Amino acid sequence: MPSESAVRIVWIYPDLLSTYGDQGNQLVLEQRAARRGIPFESIRVRSADPVPETGDIYLIGGGEDRPQILAAQRLRKDGGLHRALARGAAMLAVCAGYQIMGSTFGGEEGQPVQGLGLLDISSGRGSVRGVGELVAEVDSALNLPTLTGFENHMGVTRLGPGVKPLAKVVTGVGNGDGFEGCHAGHVVGTYLHGPALARNPALADLLLRWAVGSELAPLDDSRYEALRRERLSAVASR
Ligand code: GLN
Repeated sequence: MPSESAVRIVWIYPDLLSTYGDQGNQLVLEQRAARRGIPFESIRVRSADPVPETGDIYLIGGGEDRPQILAAQRLRKDGGLHRALARGAAMLAVCAGYQIMGSTFGGEEGQPVQGLGLLDISSGRGSVRGVGELVAEVDSALNLPTLTGFENHMGVTRLGPGVKPLAKVVTGVGNGDGFEGCHAGHVVGTYLHGPALARNPALADLLLRWAVGSELAPLDDSRYEALRRERLSAVASR
């Protein structure tokens, strides 16, 4: 049994939303907790099952249009994620998972589909697919290094006053308005795949820090930093 203080990491709907290895985000959180001796428990919630409301970090990934619609319907009906976020749980929502967090998003034919209303954003279908590398400079309030990853989506996302842009786009499309993703409280939404937390370990640590409620021991990330530098310079030199 995990200890009382174990960080509970909940992956929502691996059977519906998990494109481009987004589930790797859970592995990265597990690994970074383990390397620091932070006890954790990982939970994978299939779409037929209720979403536990006692998690500390919730993760949801990208997906095709139809599973995205199904996931939104089930999460709305279930209500567990709403209760968890009302308790102050942290969350990383990626691409389709990011879009469904808002009030509406675009379905297969671009029709508006009702979202979860958990972030003050709304999405629709854009005219061109945003596909390729995405590089963005993070909101200085979050104190994180440059974000890198790749994107592949038709959706464009408009932010309301209840959220802040996560980052300013340097290369790529992101929300479609020059910014990428958003954040509000302990919830982060992003178009980044890679998986996002493998390409941006500092973002993983932000979620862990929110969950643990205190500063984390530093890790030797020189290997990952070298890979990040390589990737960023490859994108810059194109
Ligand atoms: N179906 C959504 C879109 O095209 C999300 C795609 C994704 O998650 N990669 O915008």
